[in-house]
Amino acid sequence: MLRGPPMTLGLLLSLMLSQSAPSLGQGRAHVEALRTGELNKTWARSGKAPGQQFKSLAALQKFAAGLRSYGEESKLVSEGLSERNGLAVYQRVAGVTNWARGLEVELTMDGQGRLLGASMKFPTKEAATAYGSYRALVKLRLPLDDTWHVLWGGRTWEENRHASVSDMRFALDLLQRKNGSSAVGRGQKNEDYFAWSQPVVAPADGVVVVADDGVVDNQPNHAVGGNLYGNLIVIDHGTEEFTLMGHLKNGSLLVKPGDRVTQGQRLARVGNSGMSTEPHLHFQLMDTADWQTAHGLPLQLINFVRNGTVVDRAEPRRGDVLTPVSSEARR
Ligand SMILES: [Zn+2]
Repeated sequence: MLRGPPMTLGLLLSLMLSQSAPSLGQGRAHVEALRTGELNKTWARSGKAPGQQFKSLAALQKFAAGLRSYGEESKLVSEGLSERNGLAVYQRVAGVTNWARGLEVELTMDGQGRLLGASMKFPTKEAATAYGSYRALVKLRLPLDDTWHVLWGGRTWEENRHASVSDMRFALDLLQRKNGSSAVGRGQKNEDYFAWSQPVVAPADGVVVVADDGVVDNQPNHAVGGNLYGNLIVIDHGTEEFTLMGHLKNGSLLVKPGDRVTQGQRLARVGNSGMSTEPHLHFQLMDTADWQTAHGLPLQLINFVRNGTVVDRAEPRRGDVLTPVSSEARR
C-alpha cells in the first residue's frame, strides 16, 4: 500500500463541497496501479477519455515499467493535488530504492478522477523541513580521520542533491581527492579510490541501533539497485538524534546493535555498497532511527578545520575541505 500524510483542512473542505472532484486518494490509486502494473481497469475507465495522453494500454504499461525501473518506493516525501488548465494534477515525490535522489511523479486527472496523463522526473526542489533553525544537541565530529572533500552538502538542492529526500535533507557525501581527482588512473576498481577502505569512526558517543553488513560492494560506476544505503550503521546519541553512515565496505563492520560506542571509536571502513557509484561515505543526522520515516536534521560539526580555518560549529557545504582538529594536531 502507498501511504500518505493526513489530508489538509483545505483539501477536506474542497472535497466536501464537490463530491465528484478528483482526490488525493484517486491519485494514490493510480500510482498504485502503475506500480503493480495492473492497469487493465485503469485503461478501461480512462483510455477513451478526452485528452488521454497514452495512445494505447501498451503505452501506459511502458510508462509504468519505466517508473518501476527506479525501484520500489522507500518513503513518501510529499504529495499534493492542484489544478492546471481545468484538470487535477496529483504530484508525488518519493524516495526510491534504485535512485538515491528520489522520484517525482505527476498525474493528470479529469473531473471524474480518470487518469489522462503521467510524467516522471527527478525532483529538483528541497524536501519540506520543520528543522530549518534546528541546533543539534549532539556534538558531532567528522566520522573520519584525515582530510575529506564534500561532494554534496548544504541546504539547497543546487549544492546538495540529497536535499530532495526528507531523511537526507542535510546529508553529506564525503570523499578524498588528490589533484582534483578521487581516484588514481581511470578509477576502474574500488582500490583505485583514495576514500576506499578508510576507517569510519563514531561521530559522537551513543548506542548502535542498526549495523547492517553483507552487501557486496559495487564496481565503480555500476551501482546495483534495490538497496539504498548498502551496509550501514545508525547510532542513537541519546538526544533524540541519530546519525547514519552508509555505503560501508562489505565485511568491515566492527559493531553490532546494542553496542555502546565512544566518539572516535572505529566502526567500519568506507565502501561502495548500495546506491553508490564510487567509494565514499554518506553521513546524515536524523530525528529517528528508522531512515524510512526519519526527517533529516541540519548536520552541524563541532570544532573542525574547514578550508584551512578552525571553526567551532558549522554545517559543511559542497566543495568544503574538512579535517578533524585531532587529525590536524597529529601532523
Ligand atoms: Zn549520499
